[in-house]
Amino acid sequence: MNVISVRDLFRVYRLGTVDVHALNGLSIDIEKGEFVGIMGPSGSGKSTLLYQISLLDRPSSGFISVQGTDVGRLSDRQRTKFRLKHFGYVFQDYALVPELTTEENVSLLPMALGKSDEECHEMSVDILDVVGLKERLSHLPRELSGGEQQRVAIARAMVNQPDIIFADEPCANLDSVNSKRILDLFKQLNQENGQTIVMISHEDEDIEYFDRVIQIFDGKNVEN
Ligand code: ADP
Ligand code: ADP
Repeated sequence: MNVISVRDLFRVYRLGTVDVHALNGLSIDIEKGEFVGIMGPSGSGKSTLLYQISLLDRPSSGFISVQGTDVGRLSDRQRTKFRLKHFGYVFQDYALVPELTTEENVSLLPMALGKSDEECHEMSVDILDVVGLKERLSHLPRELSGGEQQRVAIARAMVNQPDIIFADEPCANLDSVNSKRILDLFKQLNQENGQTIVMISHEDEDIEYFDRVIQIFDGKNVEN
């Protein structure tokens, strides 16, 4: 079953009088449970594609279906709800709240969804155990290494057991040892929980982790 279907996607950014054609008629399908790598040169439209399929931005034209829902028809409010319920995000710069501890950062989402303090604690500790950070519950982000911060961010993305994880170059700021640890973790979560993972990468070494690579060039997918 396709969890994501994209047809004839265009995204034009207006910069003053200049139009930047970031996506140029791209069509892709992603199946449930796939660990997919999105690869291609800088400026080819990878981030723009991820923004569209993860509902952070709307395309200029084209069709996107996620889990059978034509998401273009949803209002902004419905899209926000859809994202909270179904998606987890991991970014290049971790994007943790600097004033909050590890546990508090991970608890934010279950709290927003109305879970009790006790449930939040349990859910956070469980997932922080999976990423190997159970001993760092009360640490602030600045007291953690980059690799540890990214593992907190992954725990935060996973805590509500979303159907799909979107990751935009999650290892870009990490050394090779920590990058491997993050990719091993994604692979483990993908295999154990069957979550779909869509990850942007420009590292050829990452290819072995992916079930499939979607190659993007000039805002279009390259058939391989
Ligand atoms: P990639 O992630 O592959 O590096 P992007 O999706 O970030 O590519 O960018 C694709 C093209 O769109 C680039 O030419 C980039 O400069 C342009 N672009 C991306 N975001 C914006 C924006 N917010 N406003 C204007 N142009 C943008
Ligand atoms: P990536 O590292 O994924 O390629 P970029 O560095 O291209 O990301 O873009 C980072 C941010 O800047 C994104 O939010 C993107 O939309 C925005 N951006 C990229 N290119 C432009 C541009 N030419 N004008 C305005 N914003 C841009």
